[in-house]
Amino acid sequence: MKQLLTEKPKVLRMVDVDQPKIEGPKDVLVKIKAAGICGSDVHIYHGTSPVATYPRVMGHEITGVVAEIGKAVTRVKPGDPVIVDQIVACGECYPCKIGRPNICCALKVRGVHIDGGYREYLCAGENAMHLLPEGLPFTEAVMIEPMSIAFQACSRAEITAGDTVFILGAGALGKSIIKAALLTGATLIAADVADRRLEEAKALGVNLVINSQKEDLPAKLKEYTTWGPTVSIDAAGFPASLPLLTDLTCNAGRIITMAFLEEPSPVQQFKITAKELDIRGSRLQNNRFEEVIAAYRAGKITIEGQVSHVFPFSKAIEAFERIDSGDPSIGKIALSYE
Ligand code: MN
Repeated sequence: MKQLLTEKPKVLRMVDVDQPKIEGPKDVLVKIKAAGICGSDVHIYHGTSPVATYPRVMGHEITGVVAEIGKAVTRVKPGDPVIVDQIVACGECYPCKIGRPNICCALKVRGVHIDGGYREYLCAGENAMHLLPEGLPFTEAVMIEPMSIAFQACSRAEITAGDTVFILGAGALGKSIIKAALLTGATLIAADVADRRLEEAKALGVNLVINSQKEDLPAKLKEYTTWGPTVSIDAAGFPASLPLLTDLTCNAGRIITMAFLEEPSPVQQFKITAKELDIRGSRLQNNRFEEVIAAYRAGKITIEGQVSHVFPFSKAIEAFERIDSGDPSIGKIALSYE
């Protein structure tokens, strides 16, 4: 079979390798149908991921069809359309034991620490398999993964209908968070520097949008909330964003960080202590695929319409070159393995 190997940063090669085989009784062999290219894949490709190792087969937004199953598999059968969970956890460490395998101390993420979906076949345990909803094309269904990241952030924030949630950044991540947060019934505020993204946020149902470049963000928030948002989610992730959110968030509020930013953020402990702020990280997702799929099935969220370009898997290297070209029409790319 073919696989796209990132030998080292910026060096991609399409190589021929043996097809993986079912090894354990709980293994499932998946014929991959589509895989998304995520911002984090582009970081791995560029050599700017703080977690990836090389050589690596990237790809963690993976959909396909079950090709073969081990003897003890009950969750799926050959022919089933699935999305593959990207998390492989040890099951033994503290976070695993308290039900948080997404931050396992020995965490392996497909496409990051171990090989992912930019190949024709993948073998994984049945627990990683989630049945896709009927009628959702494979190239669109890859977006269930980014949506699961947004569900995780909202879960970490413990949003209730009484909250006022401030989402900093209305790009792809911010928009997914908006969609997930809308399900909670909370009041939503989004800020960005691009009017186009704010218009999209407004169209999704955000109550108030603020252009933080043109408007006075603290003053606007104060005018709208008096005491500040009760939850702030950082979907922008720059060094000044965390100190900004410790300023803006209401006393007793929660702040959610999501970036893999290695640069330090100058935060005043005083703000955290005096306001009893909860600053919580949100990484990947903890069993959120089924929730996303259920919300989609119930018509509560949309998944389609976010992929701007589909490239055949054979042209995956070209897809990465197009991203590097800075072509403004390129939004989300899905690779199709037909
Ligand atoms: Mn992703």
